[in-house]
Amino acid sequence: MELIFEKSVEGRKGFRFGDSDVPVRVQVPAAYARTQDAPLPEVSELDVVRHYTRLSQMNFSIDTHFYPLGSCTMKYNPKFTEALARLSGFTDLHPLLAQLSGGERWTQGALQILYELQQWMGEITGFKHFTMQPLAGAHGELTGIMLMAAYHKSKGNHKKKYVIIPDSAHGTNPASAAIAGYETITIPSNKDGGMDLQALRDAVNEQTAGLMMTVPSTYGVFEPNISAIAEVIHAVDGIMYYDGANLNAVLGRFRPGDVGFDVMHINTHKTFTTPHGGGGPGAGPVGVNDKLAPFLPVSRVVRRADGAFALDYNFAQSIGYIASFYGNFGLLVRAYAYLLMLGREGLADTADHAVLNANYIMKKLAPYYKLCFDRICMHESVFSASQQAARGVHAIDIAKFLIDQQVHPPTVYFPISVPEAIMIEPTETESKQTMDYYIGKMVEADKLSQTDPAVFKEFPKTMPVSRPDEVKAARDVKTSFFAATTDAA
Ligand SMILES: *Cc1c(COP(=O)(O)O)cnc(C)c1O
Repeated sequence: MELIFEKSVEGRKGFRFGDSDVPVRVQVPAAYARTQDAPLPEVSELDVVRHYTRLSQMNFSIDTHFYPLGSCTMKYNPKFTEALARLSGFTDLHPLLAQLSGGERWTQGALQILYELQQWMGEITGFKHFTMQPLAGAHGELTGIMLMAAYHKSKGNHKKKYVIIPDSAHGTNPASAAIAGYETITIPSNKDGGMDLQALRDAVNEQTAGLMMTVPSTYGVFEPNISAIAEVIHAVDGIMYYDGANLNAVLGRFRPGDVGFDVMHINTHKTFTTPHGGGGPGAGPVGVNDKLAPFLPVSRVVRRADGAFALDYNFAQSIGYIASFYGNFGLLVRAYAYLLMLGREGLADTADHAVLNANYIMKKLAPYYKLCFDRICMHESVFSASQQAARGVHAIDIAKFLIDQQVHPPTVYFPISVPEAIMIEPTETESKQTMDYYIGKMVEADKLSQTDPAVFKEFPKTMPVSRPDEVKAARDVKTSFFAATTDAA
């Protein structure tokens, strides 16, 4: 690794500052002043450009590789939405401008985007009221559960204590409920991957604050009993939360607001193809029905009688700000552009192709890998590598094999309720040729597990780092070259 990372050559400079022409008014106290130069890498601009460009090429990304990471919806991010989000009319806008007296005049375009997104997302989901503020799916969940809590407080529902969550839920669901002050109760799934209705009835009582559900679920299956579930929850004045992370499977075909849900979030980086951003900015707009509308965050974007767009802070029961300003505005511009491009028919097409692609891969791999649920899937399918594991080749080994074959591995070991889980989500943006290549590699892995299982321990062979200790990497992070070298010494 030294060869890759150690580029410093004594005396080499990429940039030289001229002498300062600003008079020194206050001297830094001697105790704090440097007596020696900082031990920075000494490199030229070209060294730096090559270093980072090469590092970027070691990464897997949507723009370089097929990326069927189940549950994450890693679809292609069209470049025209990037270009639109970079228009200076958006990037040069100061977020406080809209609040200045007369400032609305200069921000009509931006406010219009936020307003129309509220309308369009409302039409897509069946929820009349939206906030664009939340900064990720998980942040949308937290916002939604805070709205739930505000509702119960306003109704004097003081006994509410639990949020019910199925065992297939994403880990963010119980985390969001806990941060908002609730305890959680887990409901097991039935053999079809749906919610066990009897277990739900047994768990619900006057302490039930609400239920969080993902439809289609993380198992990639549609829940057929939503109305019955909603009835059970609403009978105790509970709130039905729809985790919209998998909305891309049902766009234009099914509206959660029509079937008994009260609140939901959208992950724009999943459903509306804004970049996931390597842990960077996301957006998790939250929609609600009339019951929860009074509690939505401020500011809210409204349209006045004269047609002008404006910010409104005048909602006495609002939970307040949930993020600074209006959320990650640049991502919302990208989502807006994407919706404009697709239109109504395009959106439904998107969902159809996401489901078709997932079923294509599921059918082709079913002879080789054990299917979790033998039924038509939605946007993703879940296998278990249990047959391969019996030969000594585990889900992680298959994932490492795939890295050498130039595809990003699928999600493995999640959902946690499935042993040796392999969860595959191709998304609608991939071609048949790409999927066929991937299917071929999965079949090859199965064959190899029969003929030479031991070889899997060597994978990946083509990467600069083969198999890091993942626990140590997470618990004992070294972000600084200097800290690492000092430690070693
Ligand atoms: C991705 C995901 C989340 C969390 O969304 P983030 O935007 O990553 O915070 C929540 N629930 C489900 C089902 C998901 O797939």
